[in-house]
Amino acid sequence: MKTRLAGATAAFVAGAAASFVAPVAVAAPATPVPATPAPAADGCYTWSQPLSEGASGDEVRNLQIRVAGYPGNGGRLAIDGVYGAGTRDAVARFQEAYGLSADGVAGESTFAKIYELQDDDCSPVNFDYSEINNCNSDWSGGKVSADEAKSNALVTMWKLQAMRHAMGDAPIQVNGGFRSVTCNDSVGGAPDSRHLYGDAADLGAGSQGFCALAQQARDHGFGEILGPGYPGHDDHVHVAGGADTWSAPDCGI
Ligand SMILES: [Zn+2]
Repeated sequence: MKTRLAGATAAFVAGAAASFVAPVAVAAPATPVPATPAPAADGCYTWSQPLSEGASGDEVRNLQIRVAGYPGNGGRLAIDGVYGAGTRDAVARFQEAYGLSADGVAGESTFAKIYELQDDDCSPVNFDYSEINNCNSDWSGGKVSADEAKSNALVTMWKLQAMRHAMGDAPIQVNGGFRSVTCNDSVGGAPDSRHLYGDAADLGAGSQGFCALAQQARDHGFGEILGPGYPGHDDHVHVAGGADTWSAPDCGI
């Protein structure tokens, strides 16, 4: 978009330079500038059209990943490429969270906000693959394929981004996420830990504190939330996909 605007500006300047020939032409080129379609460029992914309920396909699936942290309290958004009521409501919650018109339709302003929030590798701006995998660099050795582990981690990061925003945009401390079987064994992880699937993250207290993190996680699509009072979780909060298991007794969960 910046390139296009610069091009348009250059054309306008050129037009202005020649304007002594035809003064009326000076104002004319200015009009198309704001009217130029602005497909916000992004190194990771761009959507080609507005999406709303009833749509399906890969563009919907990519949208669902970005709004996975907005399923509502206790909810979980299916990343299935089908724009149903759940996706509509998640989009509306995302829009509301960022002060956009909450109509549940993903159009230009929603995509612009997503572009603003994502890095060129598709991760949200405030979280990185490297912090959610401090086990290895190729995502191998877990209970799912490397590709699946990495894409699960991506969804987890978008949930964390939603949680971070809801808590005032203060940094959330991620101490780890994906583990190969070897890494999991070495830290004494549960044999079927969600860390082996790439969709778990262990959070430090940060400025929020363990209980605030555990409580907030309930609104952002985490099936597993384990924190203070649950065995082995007094020094971190574990958030993950998987079946609903919320236990942080010292936090009233
Ligand atoms: Zn954990």
